[in-house]
Amino acid sequence: MNIQKYQKIKHEIPENVRLIAVSKTKPESDILQLYELGQRIFGENKAQELKQKHENLPKDIAWHFIGHLQTNKIKYIIPFVHLIHSIDSFNLLKEVNKQALKNNRQVSCLLQFHVATEETKYGFSFQEAVEMLQNPEFENLKNVSIVGIMGMASLTDDRSQIRREFSTLYSFFEKLKATYFKGKDSFKEISMGMTDDYDIAIEEGATLIRVGSAIFGERNYNI
Ligand SMILES: *Cc1c(COP(=O)(O)O)cnc(C)c1O
Repeated sequence: MNIQKYQKIKHEIPENVRLIAVSKTKPESDILQLYELGQRIFGENKAQELKQKHENLPKDIAWHFIGHLQTNKIKYIIPFVHLIHSIDSFNLLKEVNKQALKNNRQVSCLLQFHVATEETKYGFSFQEAVEMLQNPEFENLKNVSIVGIMGMASLTDDRSQIRREFSTLYSFFEKLKATYFKGKDSFKEISMGMTDDYDIAIEEGATLIRVGSAIFGERNYNI
């Protein structure tokens, strides 16, 4: 844990930007330590791990799901999740809607866009998102609310490339806002930026940054 770094990030981010502390793979004791300092937004990328942590930790934590979501895992998180960042297909959105309806909830979601060079990353192309938003079936999804977009930049040291990718995300947001979400004040979030690039993301218009290792330390996936 790097509490000093946490305090520094909290101090330096503008008022309109919220910090999601990405606690994936980290123990509940670490989360509690940050909770006691006032942090209430945490991000996880595995449905079962998130379910477990939600059960064991204070109920006023706003849990954000930030990883690729498999349809058969939606049920674990739908009763309590605050925001799903990673809607990357129409099918997934329909399944989330179905589970949300079962739970009598309205679930907030972000559309994830693919702007990085790596093929392994998930997300819509702009065209794919437009096709979904134009599909009459989209209007029938009453238990999900699209409140913005999310994306990840390429894993590269080239900061100008990262900036271009974030700028592309911002332009997607603006275009969607002007057409499919005109007059919808709830469509306002841009989730971009992690430990190595959150500063650029903020300059390019992020409203949510997702920071893990800078706060919690490096992750060890072998334990
Ligand atoms: C793990 C993860 C993060 C946090 O990454 P760090 O580099 O540790 O800050 C942010 N976003 C997503 C989608 C992640 O999976």
